[in-house]
Amino acid sequence: MSDDSKRYVGKDIEVIFHPGRCVHSAKCVSGLPEVFNIKKKPWVHVDGETADKIASQINNCPSGALEYVWKSNLLNGGKQMFEIKEGTNGFYVGEEDNKEAEIHYVQNGKHIIIVDHTIVSDSLKGQGVGQALVKRLVEFARTKGIKIMPLCPFAKSQFDRHEDYADVLL
Ligand code: SF4
Repeated sequence: MSDDSKRYVGKDIEVIFHPGRCVHSAKCVSGLPEVFNIKKKPWVHVDGETADKIASQINNCPSGALEYVWKSNLLNGGKQMFEIKEGTNGFYVGEEDNKEAEIHYVQNGKHIIIVDHTIVSDSLKGQGVGQALVKRLVEFARTKGIKIMPLCPFAKSQFDRHEDYADVLL
């Protein structure tokens, strides 16, 4: 992150602003004025809207001046953090060529993804990594407006336990 970057920490999401990249399109302030308001201090009110809406709005920033990180990407309450990264057709912990945990899906048309496996290495077991990967995928689906078919037994068990995931369940 560059030195002039600012970070705004919310309940579910953190917003990062890079002033040097901003091209002043005003898309953020017109699209989500409850969150982005240059007349207020701080100008980003992270809990002014749902994290899903904030993420969707930030995806429309034309310059990359706004970025976000889901809080669920950071596990273990910040004591030891495992970053969940977005990969090709999934999310993972570790490195692209050496994944320690992964949730993987196959695309079925434009609006459906099918979860075919979730794996967690022995070294990460018992730390909620699998649950966090499913949660991250749910957040991803909400942002993209797509539905999830959880064929993988672990992902299905998470959907069975979480009524709050029903909005993205196919
Ligand atoms: S949408 Fe991005 S580029 Fe446009 S004003 Fe907001 S931060 Fe700047």
